[in-house]
Amino acid sequence: MNIHEYQAKGILRSFGVPVPDGHVIYNSASAREWSKRLGEGPWVVKAQIHAGGRGKGGGVKLARTPNEVRDLAREMLGMTLVTHQTGPEGKLVKRVLVEEGCNIANELYVSLLVDRATSKVTVMASTEGGMDIEEVAAKTPEKIFMEAVDPLVGLTPFQCRKIAFSLGLDGKLINKAVKLLEGLYTTFIACDCSLLEINPLVVTAENNLLALDAKFGFDDNALFRHPKIADLRDYDEEDHNEIEASQYDLSYISLTGNIGCLVNGAGLAMATMDIIKHYGGDPANFLDVGGGATIERVTEAFKIILSDANVKGILVNIFGGIMKCDVIATGVVEAAKQVGIKVPLVVRLEGTNVALGKQMLAESGLNIVTADGMADAAQKIVAAVKGAN
Ligand code: ADP
Ligand code: MG
Repeated sequence: MNIHEYQAKGILRSFGVPVPDGHVIYNSASAREWSKRLGEGPWVVKAQIHAGGRGKGGGVKLARTPNEVRDLAREMLGMTLVTHQTGPEGKLVKRVLVEEGCNIANELYVSLLVDRATSKVTVMASTEGGMDIEEVAAKTPEKIFMEAVDPLVGLTPFQCRKIAFSLGLDGKLINKAVKLLEGLYTTFIACDCSLLEINPLVVTAENNLLALDAKFGFDDNALFRHPKIADLRDYDEEDHNEIEASQYDLSYISLTGNIGCLVNGAGLAMATMDIIKHYGGDPANFLDVGGGATIERVTEAFKIILSDANVKGILVNIFGGIMKCDVIATGVVEAAKQVGIKVPLVVRLEGTNVALGKQMLAESGLNIVTADGMADAAQKIVAAVKGAN
């Protein structure tokens, strides 16, 4: 799960990490008032969407007077902001953050993430702040400094100093950096984060350190421990079908292809996507209905796939271990009754109650192409979709 920048800054503030003062607004009428409460100015007006690159896309602007704050807020609220992270369709801006503008002397980068290779939380730091870190990593990897944290010991002051040195900090800034890094690490652990990125972390003209932008990723499997964080979820920022799927405990990720996939087990789902690609097709989604899916869940899964206008054909690929093939068949038939299937449907069933499942599909009167084995199934659906175009 992701959250907005202003929410991220609220969390950081509560853990003592220095961030600029600011206030989120939904309506430009209150922008002027809020800017006055936030001091003398200048102010920065920032579009709140779940995507970075806002600065370059026109979603971060400086205002010198309260009237300018109001005008910029009016301009941004309701606009569709396109950045290199939103895709060409952009994202609708429904909230803006008005915050104190600061005098930036230097922009740095720091993030904490879970490094799968070492199985450790790792601090990543770079003097190249404010830029796309992926680009820095690709072009000048020597400018990225990594420090892995021992899970039993935690982030030590020694390591924090090492990171501060790598950022080129000196004098009083070293101790400020140590405190800030400790704050970030405490936040990361306390909130079960998967990512905490500060880009940029700035050195101000007054020789202070401030987290000027903040991005959080949370481990969804730990969200039940953090109801206050779960409340920050903004459904407007998420894919409609993915929200629907999560309500039925389905693992669903929409993709850009046109073959809808209904599969049980993440491994089989990945293999199914691979084999579709292998035969020249493109999956429209990743969908794992899980091991013990009920008829209701299968029906919902099928409805979600069908609601995607890009889907030109569906491949059901089930290996019934815990899952029974007749349950899948019932779900398919039920969903077809409720919403109607107008695209080609290829079904490959194997495992528990396979004969019963196949019989139910055969007797359903639905126009189903049956397949034996994955290669056969993939070839049939790819051919059917190509034929339909
Ligand atoms: P994004 O990463 O989406 O582009 P940022 O929050 O990083 O958005 O802002 C982009 C740039 O705008 C920053 O690198 C910084 O130079 C400037 N900026 C952002 N917030 C402030 C602020 N409060 N005061 C001064 N400059 C800011
Ligand atoms: Mg940024």
